[in-house]
Amino acid sequence: MLLSPGRAWQINGVPTDIKSLTRAEIESRFKAWNEPAWRAGQVLDWLYRRRVSDWEAMTNLPKPLREKLKAHLSLHALELIRAQGARDTTRKFLWRLADGQLIESVLIPANPALYGDASDRHTLCVSTQVGCAYGCKFCASGLDGWKRNLTPDEIVEQVLAVERWNENEAGSKRVEGGTGGSSRVARHASRLINNLVIMGMGEPLANYENLLQALRILNAAWGVGIGARKITVSTSGLAPQIRRLAAEPFQFRLAISLHGATDAVRNQLMPVNRRHPLRELVAACEEYEHRKGRRVTLEYILIAGVNDAPEQTGPLAALARRLSAKVNLIPYNQVEGLPWERPTEAAQEKFLALLKKQKVAVTLRREKGGDIDAACGQLRLKMERALAKAGSG
Ligand code: SAH
Ligand code: SF4
Repeated sequence: MLLSPGRAWQINGVPTDIKSLTRAEIESRFKAWNEPAWRAGQVLDWLYRRRVSDWEAMTNLPKPLREKLKAHLSLHALELIRAQGARDTTRKFLWRLADGQLIESVLIPANPALYGDASDRHTLCVSTQVGCAYGCKFCASGLDGWKRNLTPDEIVEQVLAVERWNENEAGSKRVEGGTGGSSRVARHASRLINNLVIMGMGEPLANYENLLQALRILNAAWGVGIGARKITVSTSGLAPQIRRLAAEPFQFRLAISLHGATDAVRNQLMPVNRRHPLRELVAACEEYEHRKGRRVTLEYILIAGVNDAPEQTGPLAALARRLSAKVNLIPYNQVEGLPWERPTEAAQEKFLALLKKQKVAVTLRREKGGDIDAACGQLRLKMERALAKAGSG
């Protein structure tokens, strides 16, 4: 795939989607067509403020320009297959991509202070790949392997498509608090999502170039306008890419899916740890913290009998202290076909208390309704398997 700067007009014969291009890239195409640069501003306004998904809707562009755009670039919108969940709770979206592949996004309302500031209203969890190649033993996303990377526009579109859905759904009565951050009200009056977590299906740092291009667009004032500090990238521990991200000129938050504080436990759960063991991962995190001046967050799924023993809190506390990192404890969500289970509430609380005693900044996600809050990847997996069954039967 051709990478920024200067994305190709076509990749493997498929036209690039305009939502994979930055403002500068669109302006340079317009220059080559002898169109004034301010026309790019009009197009961006249609794409990211009004969220249109049809060239014909861009009524203030001259028809010949619309025709030229249509001939050279694509403009895809995600197709909603299913929205699951009730108002004011977590909502899961299953989307179909242009080639028929399925991905998920999860909308989490009024999620205070987990990954951002207390004022955050709506967080969207987005996917970066179809499936995942990393094969963590507990995760639904990796169960059927990796299919392909998402393109930048497919990552960006998850935000736009959820906001489109919200407008249709709520009509004049928008989801409460849907005006987004105050500084953006004028330009993005109907912005629903002001916080992003890159924790959906896939390993974001294994799709590095496309992720970065998508984040440029999601972050830019001319694009979706979500502040870099409101964007959290989660990784299972790709140490070299963490260092690469540390060198980028963005203040993204970084979350590490740790799930084990020793190589013995991590090796058992996450094959990536054999390639980049804890020593290497922690050093990369230190570099990230040093260069960005901000702390990483450690995600720790609690799995009964695997990583929830009281003795595990010692090495976890040591690691968290070394990185001055906050720890998020997440009770495991049961995945169909996998043997793992979440610990009892008493065991969860004990683990939490032991970490607190060791002066770790730690939170425990206490959730109800495990079904809808189930980790990303499960809805797609269920649907894929149902379709396969229907196809074979
Ligand atoms: N690949 C990246 C981001 C996607 S996974 C990563 O691993 O960080 C997002 C988060 O969901 C990770 O912390 C992952 O470990 C967690 N997760 C996966 N399956 C889960 C399950 N069944 N229950 C709870 N969390 C899960
Ligand atoms: Fe991939 Fe993350 Fe799931 Fe591991 S936890 S299989 S890296 S999506």
